[in-house]
Amino acid sequence: MTKEILRTLEELVNTPSPTGWTRLAEQYLMKKLQEYGCKPYQSNKGTVYAALNPDTKGDGLLLSAHVDTLGLMVRAIKSNGRLRVTTLGGFPLNYAEQENVVVHTRDGDTIDGTLRLNEPAVHVSREIGKTEREDSNMEVVLDRIVRSKEEVEELGICAGDYISLDPRFVYTGGFVKSRHLDDKASAAVLLELARRHKEGKWTSARPVTLMFTTFEEVGHGAAAAHPEGITDMIAVDMGVVGDDLRTDETKVSICAKDSSGPYNYDLTDALVQTAKKAGLDYAVDIYPYYGSDASAALAAGHDYRHALIGPGVAASHGYERVHEKGLEQTLQLLEHFLTAQ
Ligand SMILES: [Zn+2]
Repeated sequence: MTKEILRTLEELVNTPSPTGWTRLAEQYLMKKLQEYGCKPYQSNKGTVYAALNPDTKGDGLLLSAHVDTLGLMVRAIKSNGRLRVTTLGGFPLNYAEQENVVVHTRDGDTIDGTLRLNEPAVHVSREIGKTEREDSNMEVVLDRIVRSKEEVEELGICAGDYISLDPRFVYTGGFVKSRHLDDKASAAVLLELARRHKEGKWTSARPVTLMFTTFEEVGHGAAAAHPEGITDMIAVDMGVVGDDLRTDETKVSICAKDSSGPYNYDLTDALVQTAKKAGLDYAVDIYPYYGSDASAALAAGHDYRHALIGPGVAASHGYERVHEKGLEQTLQLLEHFLTAQ
């Protein structure tokens, strides 16, 4: 179970899918879900769906995770052959400084580079420690001998090209360190849930549909194209770790409230009672700066009870960290909850 989640997670984080350009991750999901005996399908904007027990009748339950990630996009090619960039999703540029990146051209080529300050050498600049990182003083330097705008254009690079960040997946001491654990950690858990359903490890008396969204980082991931008959939606997304919160990387986090407001009391409470009864390592928290696909669905007008759970992920939107126990606890909470329905 844990090994499967870790293998899937490593494959997923190594599949670039900056928000807005997620087709490789979509293809990965479609293939995996077919392997697990599902008949996955996609909406126009790329969301991937899979009904786990399509012959079951009753009030439908939707479980979502998102596979779009943070990233960069080419804003302009500078006259010196460097790239000015714009961010995809919200993060401080410090979190991507000195990271290896890949530019994905519209011709299908990939060209490596590094994001760094325009003047990154300590032997030249005394300002490095004091400089505020902005898109005007940071640039992507390509790993090609190019010294002009024209030479970069000859590589096939143009404004609007997507740039992915090196995820740097490391598994050590039970911890996974990587970019994009938000929310590929939960997507890997949902894929394992599908695999274990196929193996008969759990069943539910309610119809359960998985939904993998592709525009969560820009807010409208789960806003549209829902299946019929849903009454409850649980977003499975990273739990926040930090400050005065109780969640850590070994726990499954249950969110009572985030920036979008409180989650549904009864559905959230049913998850809390399930975790308690099953003796799981969980924490109930509020997330100070956060919105989820479940709140996006409600804002779009869906009349659901909604909840938010997920493994605790530290250093969110940076070089993130989770523990395998947090992944296991999340899977177990879902299986216990769905089985009791
Ligand atoms: Zn997320």
